[in-house]
Amino acid sequence: SKITIAIDGFSSTGKSTLAKQLAKELGYVYVDTGAMYRAITLFAMRNNFIGNGEERLEDLVKVLPKIKLRFVPNAELGFSEMYLNDENVEKEIRTMEVSKRVSRVAEIEQVRYKLVEMQKAMGKEKGIVMDGRDIGTVVFPDAELKVFMTASPKARATRRYKELLDRGEEVSYEDVLENVQNRDFIDSHREFSPLRKAPDSIEFDNSDMGLKEQFERLLSIADR
Ligand code: C5P
Repeated sequence: SKITIAIDGFSSTGKSTLAKQLAKELGYVYVDTGAMYRAITLFAMRNNFIGNGEERLEDLVKVLPKIKLRFVPNAELGFSEMYLNDENVEKEIRTMEVSKRVSRVAEIEQVRYKLVEMQKAMGKEKGIVMDGRDIGTVVFPDAELKVFMTASPKARATRRYKELLDRGEEVSYEDVLENVQNRDFIDSHREFSPLRKAPDSIEFDNSDMGLKEQFERLLSIADR
């Protein structure tokens, strides 16, 4: 029968690649929770609640109930895209500008509350693979399969740097490395549902284990 799979870990450890592949193979729904925090951050930037040296996060909290987030399946791509107030923001939420601010927004208690509630609702039906930072600890503490992914900062920055270059962003490797380390620090030190390994999770270090190997190990567990 179908199960719930939680994939957590540090930034750019290859969580989404693994999660997507698992979902495809098992015929499960894949949910990228980072996209939700990124979409809220984009909204905050567009409304000048964050960025350009200013921060009016209490104003963001006030309008939170009005922000509409939705995943829309794209059959051609084979996965869902993030919509913010009915606009496809899939590309825009992946930029460095958003990456630089997202961890600051993800620290806000009310933001986490809103998104965690949505995520729990999406998981009402089994057969889901969700990736994020607090899925195995807070969103689905009872998930049947939990994975915690790590990799060296260098391996992670290299992966993210390539992704950004592929998308045509002009970034330096140093900036990407700094961003990845910054986010990990904020994500694991925040007050509300910080990034940490669930005690009952399987840990994968992606710097020395290939994706294929991880995938096969997980699949053999999920299939049991
Ligand atoms: O997964 P991704 O790197 O896109 O996530 C972007 C940011 O969103 C993370 O660095 C973190 O600050 C926040 N996040 C979170 N909880 C999650 C998923 C993402 O706080 N479940």
